[in-house]
Amino acid sequence: MPTAKIIEIFSSIQGEGVWVGRPQVFVRFHGCKLQCGYCDTPLTHHSITSAHVEFPPFSKKFENYPLAFTADELNRQLRRFEIPSLAITGGEPLEQVDFLREWLPTLEGKYDVLLETSGVEAEALQRVIGLVDMVSLDVKIPSATGEIPYWEEHQKFINVAVQKPCYAKVVFDEGMNDQEINELKNLMETFPSLCFVFQPVSPLPRRDMKRIFAVFGRFSALFPKQVRLIPQTHKFLSIL
Ligand code: SF4
Repeated sequence: MPTAKIIEIFSSIQGEGVWVGRPQVFVRFHGCKLQCGYCDTPLTHHSITSAHVEFPPFSKKFENYPLAFTADELNRQLRRFEIPSLAITGGEPLEQVDFLREWLPTLEGKYDVLLETSGVEAEALQRVIGLVDMVSLDVKIPSATGEIPYWEEHQKFINVAVQKPCYAKVVFDEGMNDQEINELKNLMETFPSLCFVFQPVSPLPRRDMKRIFAVFGRFSALFPKQVRLIPQTHKFLSIL
């Protein structure tokens, strides 16, 4: 039975995407091959020796546990929260897909499961798509990430994700250029039923909001039913 490398397990209110406002338990997996400039989980790129598990729920007090979790140990920790909704996040959880394949069925439908992913690992998603309830996939904008483009990978990934309820999260800033706008338009036209949540890079006071609204305005004029603008609301609430 594979084990999972997990950075932390904690309770919070979902601050992003279409499940915003939901109380959830967040299971943060370690490791991600991407290096987005705005990544707010720097620990995912460093070797760590222990996992932090919040207890009691919503206390912001943490206990230390060994880094590698078996499915049984993870489920034991989750039961302590008594919250029936999970955000499987990272890092990139799909980099530990062997564990997800073994662990997710042991939840026996007791949780609503949201998978938060960078949206580039289509083959891994195919292996677990039947085991999650909602997929939140990123569309990586190179001017915001500082990374290479992943348009083809996103297209393949969404083709798998649409088997289940899903939405795309577009983290962007005032630097989004015309080429990126055109690539994103193409993606939105290819998947007309998919909701695209535009999320300005935090913190908002550092953003050129006039330019942010101008970029969003171009998409909302073309795809009024497909777009949402939702900033990271947990940052306003000063919660995890
Ligand atoms: S994909 Fe997510 S976890 Fe990975 S570097 Fe980007 S923001 Fe961080």
